[in-house]
Amino acid sequence: MEVFKPEKLFGIIGHPLGHTMSPLLHNWGFSEHKIPAVYMAWPTEPEKVENFMQTFRNLPISGISVTIPHKLSVMNYIDQLTERAKSVGAVNTLYWKGDKIVGDNTDAAGVSEPLRPYSDQIKTALLIGAGGAARAAITGLQLLGINEIFITNRTKSKADDLAAEFKISVLDWDTRGDQHFDLIVNSTSLGMSGEFQEINPMIMDNQDANTIVFDLVYNPIETVFVKEAKAKGCTVIHGIEMFVHQGMEQFRLWTGKKLDEKKARKLLLDNL
Ligand code: NAP
Repeated sequence: MEVFKPEKLFGIIGHPLGHTMSPLLHNWGFSEHKIPAVYMAWPTEPEKVENFMQTFRNLPISGISVTIPHKLSVMNYIDQLTERAKSVGAVNTLYWKGDKIVGDNTDAAGVSEPLRPYSDQIKTALLIGAGGAARAAITGLQLLGINEIFITNRTKSKADDLAAEFKISVLDWDTRGDQHFDLIVNSTSLGMSGEFQEINPMIMDNQDANTIVFDLVYNPIETVFVKEAKAKGCTVIHGIEMFVHQGMEQFRLWTGKKLDEKKARKLLLDNL
């Protein structure tokens, strides 16, 4: 029997890390491309991040995915930030360039790539939510050249802060349903399995078949927002697309190889 001897080590840090699908995606990718590497889950409490980053520097670890709540704090322990990580203001991917640790962000690509086929038809976009995912979403929309971006959030001060930083406009939470948009992106937790599952983040009265809806929530796949958008005839992009594309971009950064998008999507959907 042939014994598998990994030559490269990758992993994800976050807290808690319970249900991450990243090991599934990347280990499948290594196997598809016959790359002798392994990807592990390293649950890391916030107070242990500094220690972990020291370990990264000293052990032969080739790359790391970074998730909540470490996307900001790891920036204190790296040597370079890519332009897109600077733009998002957060890091979700670490890799080596020579002896330097580079911090990058593929979450913005996770938003821009699924929308790219539609970019010509998007002039106005509404982003609902102003948390961590919203920062990547704004950068993703700006990467596509969408200039008329509105943000709305239950806590208006957070929308105001992001609007000032990214030079976009704010809509009051209570007026978010009052006009038509070419694109609506949900980056709130509304619709997620659990206590918010039945809450639709948007009032859809003014939307129609010309509206594209991208719900970043991926569990469940068919959120109440997605269901209502479909009933209105809108084009729908599911949250799993963001996960697929941010993961594909990480894999490319680490290996130079492309994951098969259709197979990656099926793998994740089968395991959700
Ligand atoms: P976050 O930083 O905690 O932000 C949560 C956002 O949801 C805030 O804007 C918050 O508004 C809003 N919100 C929470 N409860 C609400 C309520 N009851 N009514 C109205 N608004 C409410 O979280 P995040 O990291 O941005 O993640 C947000 C969502 O994106 C999650 O569902 C996550 O699963 C999803 N996501 C998906 C992917 C993917 O790969 N598809 C990647 C990242 C995140 P306030 O400011 O008023 O609290």
